[in-house]
Amino acid sequence: MLDQAAVTLPERRLLIHGAWTDAASGKSFSTINPATEEIITRVAEAGAADIDAAVRSARRALEEGPWRLMTGAQRGRLLRRLADLIERDRENLVTLEAIDAGKPLAATRRQDLPAAIDCLEYYAGWADKIAGEIVPARADALTYVTRQPVGVVAAIVPWNFPLMNAVWKIAPALACGCTVVLKPAELTPLSALRLGELALEAGLPPGVLNIVPGFGTVAGQALIEHPEVDKISFTGSPQVGKHIMATAAQQCKHVTLELGGKSPNLIFEDADLDAAAHAAGSGIFFNAGQVCSAGSRILVHESRHDEFVDRLVGRARRLKLGNPFDPETSMGPLISATQQERVLAHIERGREGGVRIASGGRAHGEKGYFIEPTVLADADNAMSVAQEEIFGPVATVIPFKDDAQAIRMANDSRYSLAAGLWTRDVTRAHRVAQALRAGTVWINTFGPTDTRLPWGGLGGDSGVGRDLGRTALDNYTEQKAVWLHLGKVA
Ligand code: NAD
Repeated sequence: MLDQAAVTLPERRLLIHGAWTDAASGKSFSTINPATEEIITRVAEAGAADIDAAVRSARRALEEGPWRLMTGAQRGRLLRRLADLIERDRENLVTLEAIDAGKPLAATRRQDLPAAIDCLEYYAGWADKIAGEIVPARADALTYVTRQPVGVVAAIVPWNFPLMNAVWKIAPALACGCTVVLKPAELTPLSALRLGELALEAGLPPGVLNIVPGFGTVAGQALIEHPEVDKISFTGSPQVGKHIMATAAQQCKHVTLELGGKSPNLIFEDADLDAAAHAAGSGIFFNAGQVCSAGSRILVHESRHDEFVDRLVGRARRLKLGNPFDPETSMGPLISATQQERVLAHIERGREGGVRIASGGRAHGEKGYFIEPTVLADADNAMSVAQEEIFGPVATVIPFKDDAQAIRMANDSRYSLAAGLWTRDVTRAHRVAQALRAGTVWINTFGPTDTRLPWGGLGGDSGVGRDLGRTALDNYTEQKAVWLHLGKVA
């Protein structure tokens, strides 16, 4: 096993116009290993001047450089090369996610890395198939619609899937011919910076992908206000997402917002309870619950509630918390002390509100920001633990009486990202899937995503727009109608 304390890295810099540079202010910040609370390294801290340089570089690359003249096939080849380089350096990237984000090696190998590679390959395939169309509107004109890159894209991502979320934005944006300024989360900048090195090695021209770690209120704020940014693609909290939308409105920028979730997982009386409890456990404890689509609200038919809770508690108790480098570890730490405190405060509020803590509920260990996998039972959908996004390993289990009540409770939420349901009745499965307010519905499974399928919420605190799938191409292209006057037709 790797000794995580021994993993130290050289200081990292900003990637602007194809070169690694210090921040104009000379400032840098520490990035911390959440499992050991030790400093991994220092990273240059982008300020407004660096953001301006990065955006100008992206603008230049869009309008003047070789990128503009490349065909879709050439862009696709670059994306494929980048995917191959990620594959080559897979273990290095998995290690970076483990030390910087506390993600267990096995989970990152299984989820984040294959998803990032698949995403690049998928959009590489699209790059030379983004076509307009001829629309025969009039007899005296040839009228057609072209698709052009939307322009300079600001991609702002959170810390829970640092590499994967960055790629979800970069891959379609580059396939469409845009240029990108990526601001990784200040808590997890390392894998994005490594991605920048690989992008240069793949041959991406200077300025096509700039990477500017820094704080949200400084670097992020400068980026969303910059007049040369055409599109903001954001994944993060509802609070910041709303602020971004309001800021973008001042300049009518395009915005896609992938925000939070409080995803309901409905377990009907005829469900395969073993399978449901197993998937529900993964659905809430995977990545220590720091997943936007975590199945954090588990609605169970009252006749199976206690039986289900016992199984979920059994699953929670079997999880092994600890060093992300240990192959036996199934759950790592939360990302920060702040997040750990926030989650504990949510649990405390639930306790005060009368919820039963069937398992867990406390911090774990001497070092690192761990929290025991927690099951809250006999809850009510109106409680704060059923309404607020906790973003930690905390399942809130709520009994229901019948289908109508289950659907009503599932939809009684500010969130609308995803939902799951468990039944052996195929008619009920489709009926309930139709009725649930969610961008994704899983039937007899919970949690999978795929590059080919659109991902996003139906508004509210889950945000608007879609990542992934063919739909994401619309995020990064503008349509232009062209009229060629033909004169009088004889
Ligand atoms: P956050 O909103 O605090 O931060 C996200 C990013 O926004 C970071 O890079 C941060 O630096 C930046 N930021 C903060 N303030 C900013 C500002 N004023 N201007 C511009 N950028 C700013 O979110 P977080 O705590 O890092 O992530 C957790 C949240 O992300 C949760 O709500 C989770 O549900 C959501 N999330 C959603 C999805 C999805 O696909 N829907 C995926 C992952 C995470």
